[in-house]
Amino acid sequence: MQSVASRLEAVAGSLPQHVSLVAVSKFHPAEAIRQAYDAGQRIFAESRVQEIVAKIPQLPADIRWHFIGHLQTNKVRALVGTRRIDLIESVDSARLLDLIDRAAADEGIVQKVLIQLHVAKEETKFGLTPDEALEFFTSGRWHTLRATHICGLMGMASNTDDRARVAADFESIAETGRRIAAACPDIRGFDILSMGMSHDYMAAIEAGSTHVRIGTAIFGSR
Ligand SMILES: *Cc1c(COP(=O)(O)O)cnc(C)c1O
Repeated sequence: MQSVASRLEAVAGSLPQHVSLVAVSKFHPAEAIRQAYDAGQRIFAESRVQEIVAKIPQLPADIRWHFIGHLQTNKVRALVGTRRIDLIESVDSARLLDLIDRAAADEGIVQKVLIQLHVAKEETKFGLTPDEALEFFTSGRWHTLRATHICGLMGMASNTDDRARVAADFESIAETGRRIAAACPDIRGFDILSMGMSHDYMAAIEAGSTHVRIGTAIFGSR
């Protein structure tokens, strides 16, 4: 069996310079994360609040943690309160965004987030549709945020072998990002496009992804 370090090296080596690798470590022990860390990886992502809260103190302080799972409103304070989450990628409602903003303001921090888009047909039901996202930004509601920085968009393609469909899903996410940027010329630092997983990240990069979220290809199956 290949080591975490050698698989990490193979994945990292396959990425263009401008694409950041987010290593998805959910369901894998701190020991596996440590192996990837020792091989040079610094950005890790988890999908459950309990799990990330338990792992953070066991691992080095210069890890940049991303949260990528569905965030229940009653867990917002536990997550933001760690003050260690570099990016919450999975903001899937305006209400969740408001709660994150309030928690971050109370902590005296600025929380960076991505808005999760829903374009895949048969996959997760979480996320704003492209039209809902555009409406959220054109309404100017994001101006009321005091302690949250929306850095871009996250999304997933349909889980299918149909390459044209996957490419179209990624293109739809990228196009929504461009439309938001055009509709909101005063938006700042809105430049992250987080899309692509182990099985489809090359297609995501072709569509303009800046961050790929890769678990299985680095850590093995969960
Ligand atoms: C689990 C997960 C990933 C990683 O998926 P792999 O197929 O293991 O690479 C990426 N993004 C999200 C949102 C996930 O939940």
